[in-house]
Amino acid sequence: MNHNLYAVLSAGFPEDLTRPCLLLPDGGQVSYGQIEQAVSQVAGYLGALGVEPGARVALQAEKSVQGLVVYLGVLKAGAVFLPLNPAYTPAELEYFLDDAQPAVFITDPQRFVTEAGGAQPMLQAVAREADDLAALIYTSGTTGRSKGAMLSHGGLAANAHSLQQLWGFGADDVLLHALPIFHVHGLFISLHCALLTGSAMFWLNRFSEVEVIAALPRCTLMMGVPTFYTRLLAHQAFTREVAGGLRVFISGSAPLLDSTFREFQERIGQRILERYGMSESVVISSNPLQGERLAGSVGYPLPGVELRIADDAEVGVIEIRGPSVFKGYWRNPAKTAEDFTADGYFRTGDVGRCDADGRVWISGRAKDLIISGGFNVYPREVEMVLDELPGVIESAVIGVPHPDFGEGVVAIVEGHGDEAALIAECRRQLASFKTPKRVVFVTALPRNTLGKVQKNHLRHSYQGLFSDVP
Ligand code: AMP
Repeated sequence: MNHNLYAVLSAGFPEDLTRPCLLLPDGGQVSYGQIEQAVSQVAGYLGALGVEPGARVALQAEKSVQGLVVYLGVLKAGAVFLPLNPAYTPAELEYFLDDAQPAVFITDPQRFVTEAGGAQPMLQAVAREADDLAALIYTSGTTGRSKGAMLSHGGLAANAHSLQQLWGFGADDVLLHALPIFHVHGLFISLHCALLTGSAMFWLNRFSEVEVIAALPRCTLMMGVPTFYTRLLAHQAFTREVAGGLRVFISGSAPLLDSTFREFQERIGQRILERYGMSESVVISSNPLQGERLAGSVGYPLPGVELRIADDAEVGVIEIRGPSVFKGYWRNPAKTAEDFTADGYFRTGDVGRCDADGRVWISGRAKDLIISGGFNVYPREVEMVLDELPGVIESAVIGVPHPDFGEGVVAIVEGHGDEAALIAECRRQLASFKTPKRVVFVTALPRNTLGKVQKNHLRHSYQGLFSDVP
């Protein structure tokens, strides 16, 4: 059997290839047949350029239909896809290109696909084993140097099959696709579910509330990062009439605020389905499609995923093992060895717990854990208290150097209000060692493109906050 991911995905394409794969905002569409033909030509062209199976092909460009075709063509040719965030600067880019050594680097997918139009199409996907590499995903790199996570054809296929079943994808679904395609969320999680069932995607090259609201009546489900949902809720035109026809809204890549979950339920009458994942293993756990979805929990581990808390602690680092876990960091055996246990579990670096029911709750990244006066403070616990207080849109709790406590708890708050009042309210609800010593108000928290708050930036900006404390 050929484990090439493209062969696996295309086995799910509809028999009638005139059916739409992509619906476009201008009213146009791209059929499965058109996708298949363009992909075969890109694969053929890569072969003609001398790209060998296992060679890396990098793409750095704004999202486009041609970018999608390049991704699938690279898979079909048996090469390894390396997506790069178009926001990377030349210096950052140099690091990735130097590390990954791609055979081809594409910056203009439109031109590449046009050039490939003259090539002999590749009819059969290049034979690949389940363990062969399909993609190299550089982690978002919020600390240290970004590392290339090696994802295999078999691992990605296993995750896609699980999600397709878990979220009940069928041929008549229409998925709203407004996520970038340089990251696992838009590239693998969303795309693969749709392609595997031969269903359509409403394709937006970027997220815009207005365009999403216009597209939703034609969609049956949506995947997004939490900021998509907060931005939609901030728009008056996001109503039950517009969104009521969708069967599920899925959120991931960053924690969904309880307030967003509740407001969404009140406005739209549905509970957002939150799931948890990371570049190194795609989706790890998910709330159920049928059954209760709880605000703040990321649900149950996916079938086949073994999940445990390190050292059998009640709260600790989440460790996982399963078919979709990556094969290690590219050319970095030392880091790979460090991040896997002797019995083959990957240390995710996320801190969390499992309740008696088996649901997973995440309290933050291990590196964000604050140790103040010798006590562990889990930022999420403090953030959950703050986020409920008047004037707080969202908070980010960090630890910064403190001459007396080692680290002092600081809350950076998007919103406005009175510092002393917020501190007093936290003290009422939390142990005093968890209570922020300072609250700083900002108009917007720093976020990356996926909407994740960049705590490393905050720690850097506020590192001197307690330097004049005697
Ligand atoms: P990335 O590799 O860029 O996708 O980042 C993965 C990280 O995002 C995880 O290790 C988590 O820290 C965080 N993350 C993803 N999904 C969730 C979620 N639903 N709740 C909380 N954190 C999440």
